Formats: sequence, structure tokens, C-alpha cells
Amino acid sequence: MSKLYIPGPINVSKETFAAMSQPMIGHRGSEFEVLYASTQPVLQQLAGTTRPVFLSTSSAWGVMEASLRNLCGKKVLNLCCGAFSDKWFDVSNKLGLAAEKIQVEWGEAISPEVVRAKLAEGGFDLVTLIHNETSTGVMNDLPAIAEVVKSFPGVLLVVDAVSSYSAMPFAMDALGIDVLLAGVQKALALPPGMAVFACSEAALERAKSLPNRGYYFDFIEFAKNAEKNNTPSTPAISLIFGLQHMLGSIAAEGLEQRFARHASNNALIHAWGARHGFANFAPAGNQSVTLTCFTKPDAFDQATFIKSLKAKHGYIINGGYGKIKGLTFRISNMGNETATTMGELIAAMDDVLG
Ligand SMILES: *Cc1c(COP(=O)(O)O)cnc(C)c1O
Repeated sequence: MSKLYIPGPINVSKETFAAMSQPMIGHRGSEFEVLYASTQPVLQQLAGTTRPVFLSTSSAWGVMEASLRNLCGKKVLNLCCGAFSDKWFDVSNKLGLAAEKIQVEWGEAISPEVVRAKLAEGGFDLVTLIHNETSTGVMNDLPAIAEVVKSFPGVLLVVDAVSSYSAMPFAMDALGIDVLLAGVQKALALPPGMAVFACSEAALERAKSLPNRGYYFDFIEFAKNAEKNNTPSTPAISLIFGLQHMLGSIAAEGLEQRFARHASNNALIHAWGARHGFANFAPAGNQSVTLTCFTKPDAFDQATFIKSLKAKHGYIINGGYGKIKGLTFRISNMGNETATTMGELIAAMDDVLG
């Protein structure tokens, strides 16, 4: 048996799998409406919104691409600081949109003031931001960047919170975020296959004004169906059963407790790294609380470490992503981990390091 400590997908609990194996129901009946409605309060609380939270049967990229198609009428500014955020710019280009980017070195965070200067050039109507850049372990300053974007009327802000949603508080409405999106295989600790997202009224107004939104990812279709506690097409019903279970367990634990648990579990990994002389790839002040990305020291045989950890203890961590594969390694503390389970991982890593 092995256990995932990679930053997604992550370990899924037996209880979640049990919830997912409930008998199938039709999605155009009242049972489904009740199931759908039951997910809303905690999804909304986690996002800090009173807006409906839509359920998309897709991975996060479905909604990331859809945000561009639904919301970019003039020109998009993609804020790029790692594998996922860089790729969002590529996707803008693949869609044939007018797109520009702010590119910082991997391992650095996006500067709100650079965003302000770029938007001041004019012509933009959309900004994409990855809150927690999972490839580098950098967490961007969402409140500061949102404040900058909001100071430019007519510019909408899409925030990918894929690897931070449910692990820390979000204030979508207060910050004026227009789309907040997450995939369920990260901190929500579900098997992959679904994404959740909420849209501001301004986002829906923008979508209405744009052609070529298609059908499957049309935000207006999501909004119309959500009024009836439903989805445009047949959703991943088993995953929604799993989501209902996870949201119940999140509410039972308490959101504040859950956020504190993620922070303290993350601190355990930071302390472990410090003990062994592993430096954080992300700068102080911009470090993720759901995963840690360490820089591989020159003399460290990272590949053997990762292989032995799996072979001897069954724990799987990640050896770097994209162009920093082999140069960094990443350890997730998202989801259901506790001080005890993190301690087990740490003891195993210590054992392998000898
Ligand atoms: C994992 C991840 C994605 C990609 O999600 P998919 O579910 O593979 O589409 C996007 N953004 C971030 C920040 C991620 O961590």
C-alpha cells in the first residue's frame, strides 16, 4: 500500500470512497436537487461568497479555459510565475485571444505594483491569477493583487485557488474576485474529475455579452441550471456524493480548525526541511500553506531519496514539476492529514535520510 503526499491528486479517505459508492440517482430529479443544494453552504463559506458555487464535471483546466472564453472580450493579462500560471498564457494564445503576460522567475511571486503598471497601459478587460502556484510552492498576495485589479473598472479578475481552496480562508465577495475556481483532487481530498467555481454578477454580465462561449462550459448555462440546483449536463454524481461527505466533515471539524491544521502541518514540513538543510524554493512571505517546495541541494541524491521513501515506507512525494523537475521536490500537507500522519511521513523521511 502506498500513500500520496504529492500536491494532487492526494490521499482519499475510506469514508469518502464509501460515500461515493452510494446507489446512483438520476440527475433531473428531486433527490439530485437536494444533494446539489446540500453542497452550497460550505462551498460558499469556503469561498467567502453568497454567489452560487457551480459544479463542473471537468478537471480545473476546464474552468480555467472556460474563464477565458466566457470573459475575455478585449485582452487578457496572464500573471505567470510557474508551470500552471505560465500555461494559462499558452491557453489564451491557443484560443486566439489577445493576451499579454507578466512573467516572473519561477520561485518568485507576482508584484501587485507591476500589475498596476501593466494595467495602466490600458486595453485589458481580464486578469488571470494563480493564487497558490503548485509547481513552485509560491503563494501570491491575493488581497493586494485583487485591490489593484479592482482599481481598474471593467477589468475582471479570475483566481485559480486550485491548491489552496478549503485550506485557508477566501473572501471572494469582499475582494471583488469575479471567478474563484478549484479542482476537487487537491485540498478537498476527492478523486480527480470535478471542479467547483463561483462567478460574480459582473462576470455573468460579461459572459452574456460575448459570443462563442460554446455550451459545455457556458457560464450562463451553469447559472441557469444552478437556480434549479442542477448542472447543464450529467454531472459526476458519485463525486458529488463524495463532495457532500467531505463538506460535512469540513463543517464538523470547523473551518477555522481546518485552516489552522493546514498551517501547523505545513510548519512541521518546514521545520523538517530546516533540520536537514533544505531551503524553501518560495521566498519567505509568499510560501504556500498546503505544500512545500524544497530546492535540491547540489550534493543531494533526490531521486534515490524519493525512490527509497516509496519502496521502504510506501510514501510518495514529488520530484519537481515542469522545468524544475529534478531540481526541487514537493511535499503536500493538504486534505485530511493530521500532526500524527505528518509525523509518520517525517519519521519515514528521516529513516531514509539515515
Ligand atoms: C493541479 C492544478 C491545476 C490543474 O488542475 P487539473 O485538475 O489538472 O486541471 C491548475 N492550477 C493549479 C494551481 C493546480 O495546482
